[in-house]
Amino acid sequence: MSDSKRVLIVGGVAGGASCAARLRRLDESPEIILFDRGPFVSFANCGLPYYVGKVIKKEDDLLVSSPDLFKRYFNIEVRTESEVTLIDRERREIEIKDLAGGKSYRERYDALVLSPGASPVRPALPGIDLPGIHILRTIPDSNRIREWIAARKPETAVVVGGGFIGLEMTENLVKLGLKVTIVEALAQVMPALDPEMAEPLARHLETKRVQVELEDAVAAFEEGEGGEIVVKTASGRAHRAGLVILAIGVKPEVELAVEAGLELGETGAIRVDEAMRTSDPHIWAVGDAVEMWDVATGVRCHAPLAGPANRQGRVAAASITGHEARCRGAQGTIICGCLGMAAAATGANEKRLRAAGITDYEKIYLHPGNHSGYYPGSTRIHMKLLFSREDGKVLGAQAVGEAGADKRIDVISTAIQLGATVFDLEDAELCYAPQFGAAKDPVNMAGMIAANVVRGDLPLADWSRLEETDAFLLDVRTREEYLRDHIEGVVNIPLLELRERYEELPRDREIWVSCAVGQRSYYSIRFLLQKGFNVKQLSGGIVTYWGCYPI
Ligand code: FAD
Repeated sequence: MSDSKRVLIVGGVAGGASCAARLRRLDESPEIILFDRGPFVSFANCGLPYYVGKVIKKEDDLLVSSPDLFKRYFNIEVRTESEVTLIDRERREIEIKDLAGGKSYRERYDALVLSPGASPVRPALPGIDLPGIHILRTIPDSNRIREWIAARKPETAVVVGGGFIGLEMTENLVKLGLKVTIVEALAQVMPALDPEMAEPLARHLETKRVQVELEDAVAAFEEGEGGEIVVKTASGRAHRAGLVILAIGVKPEVELAVEAGLELGETGAIRVDEAMRTSDPHIWAVGDAVEMWDVATGVRCHAPLAGPANRQGRVAAASITGHEARCRGAQGTIICGCLGMAAAATGANEKRLRAAGITDYEKIYLHPGNHSGYYPGSTRIHMKLLFSREDGKVLGAQAVGEAGADKRIDVISTAIQLGATVFDLEDAELCYAPQFGAAKDPVNMAGMIAANVVRGDLPLADWSRLEETDAFLLDVRTREEYLRDHIEGVVNIPLLELRERYEELPRDREIWVSCAVGQRSYYSIRFLLQKGFNVKQLSGGIVTYWGCYPI
């Protein structure tokens, strides 16, 4: 970019701030001005729930940078409390309203970057504007919640929405001593997971005295006694609360783009190409306001996450300064911790595969310890791996557990980025010492099981068809385990008796084999296949059945 060029950036947090800083590192010459309508730039919105919960003590700790630092480090001018109200594409100008002074003025650009983010959804329900109903996006929002709690000392809260902001707020409110009810319209918490993988998380929340109300949408808010809010739901229930947090999702801020006639995508977010360029060659857009494409399915999607926003900002900066850079799309790698349990996911989940019309995939479940069982303190991770039936390409993974879910999903996320197969996971060389993992890490285990499936050594049955199947159900756990709990209708032949008793099994029916977590049923299947039986595994055994499929 030659001298005297101007780059203007709308929105100074994740996408906008990283774009600005990267621009300067790549090119010293342009004038760069960053506008934000809020009082801060470059703040840690991901830290806000923990600031409300006083885990992060001071407002200052949320500030990653400041206008002064931008000026001194990067020679970038930051204008806060400056709302961009119009884009004049013909003249290549934007109009800015100075929110402190009230005046509007214009600035010329050679390149314009939009990173206005996404705003919390606030449906037009009766009573939505009652005091005590809060959203959480900015530092001022979080201060309002803190002040409300300090002044009113509520004992109860309703969190509307069981996604990651809802769950993080739940954790922090519980830690502040509030009794929390989550009201969620879907049949599961954490919609980024498949329903059965969200089940262990929902049960965990209930053990922490969080009431989880699923499949019940909020219908109205009413004023209750003593300043309480009554949250009324579609099913007719009423939850009283001293505080309500609305966390039912976000919608991309596209007003500026729409008024300027920029093209939107199928999801309603701003359409961009791989260089983050919009339909106007002088305007780039990044972050929560843009439409992405799902790397696993190719389907257009909206992926409002901090990591992608930061990386997209860098791509836009490279593109503006004439460097090579390409956005790879969104993989949807997420993690959310709530009261001692974490849920993480990457790539496609089964819901997304089905919605994209992709059917030639397989799924396996496993429930390994986060580290070697013989080392004290091992806890279980529930894992699901999705992969292509034909060539074993890894499509997605989900993990839920008290420890170690993050590490496994990060490894699998990288594998997906590199186009890896289950055979690569099987062979991955991962760090191991007893307190950190296992010689066969859960990632290796997932790869080994899935590789057995792709090679044809381990045919799979589908848990979701258990109710309707007329297959013969075989449980190969010990008699004691079987007597403790078992799937209705199973026949118990312990693995250790199978070689003597296999002739008791039918040769004219499919046999679905289960055990505790999948190991003994695998041994049984290898034996029975070689004896000519038509056998399939119920993946992950009874722990999948009880842990993930509540019947
Ligand atoms: P934002 O960071 O929202 O920044 C947009 C900025 O643009 C805002 O400051 C806004 O005021 C400003 N703006 C908008 N319109 C205008 C205008 N017309 N003129 C001037 N300024 C304007 N993601 C994760 O990956 N992990 C997490 O743990 C996580 N936790 C989160 C917790 C909370 C409470 C929230 C709210 C979000 C969380 N996110 C998390 C999401 C993540 O913060 C966003 O994906 C990311 O910040 C998006 O960056 P962005 O630049 O697109 O938008």
